[in-house]
Amino acid sequence: MRWIYRKDFSIFTWKIRDMRIDIITCLPELFDGPLNQSIVKRSQQKGFVELYVHDLRDYSTGKHKTVDDYAYGGGAGMVLMIEPIDRCISQLKSKITYDDVIFLSPDGVVLNQGLCNELSLEQNIILLCGHYKGVDERVREHLITREISIGSYVLSGGELAAMVLADAIIRLIPGVLNDETSALTDSFQDGLLAPPVYTRPSEYKGWKVPEILQSGHEQKIEEWRHEQSVKRTKERRSDLLK
Ligand code: SAH
Repeated sequence: MRWIYRKDFSIFTWKIRDMRIDIITCLPELFDGPLNQSIVKRSQQKGFVELYVHDLRDYSTGKHKTVDDYAYGGGAGMVLMIEPIDRCISQLKSKITYDDVIFLSPDGVVLNQGLCNELSLEQNIILLCGHYKGVDERVREHLITREISIGSYVLSGGELAAMVLADAIIRLIPGVLNDETSALTDSFQDGLLAPPVYTRPSEYKGWKVPEILQSGHEQKIEEWRHEQSVKRTKERRSDLLK
């Protein structure tokens, strides 16, 4: 157990242990790449997060491991059936208590940094990925606790959305990023966009790094960064300042 500080909550809170994310999908292969690279991979190796991907077909009782069927009332597109989803969720819940069972859906609450911060404090979550036309509505009515959209557009499946959500949450788990403050200085954490950053060389093709950043004057640099954040937010996302 350890104390962690979250700027947006302005309180200290505690976690008993690190996080477990169970992802339910009919396309488990899609997760091989993105969750096995870089920060997300290291976070698993270091034990900050446990990630499990469950193939919905393993929970089908059908002869051909079917997980989808035609929609009642007709119309184009297949619908994921409730039974395999219920069997998978029930099996997971019989072993562990989950804070949330999240369905990724274009008509859900639109994901933002505040929601990522909130979810990164949870212990165990399930992410359910829809496919084709979506899932049988009874799944949403009876088995899901939250519905999250990653934006107002439609993807072919919930897998990419689940990866976006998992990545955004995992990098916030204390200890995952080497420099713990770096997640807190990212865009949106304080309602502002991040200031510009530069690295060597200090001059390239005559394009110079602002002198202030090379001055070594910490307080002035902080002031400059804040000014730049405000300027950038006004120019690009004035909605954040409201
Ligand atoms: N018929 C649905 C779209 C289905 S898209 C509709 O019109 O609302 C198939 C699946 O992709 C969805 O069930 C969902 O799991 C996922 N998906 C698509 N767009 C998404 C988005 N913007 N955010 C999160 N999940 C999304």
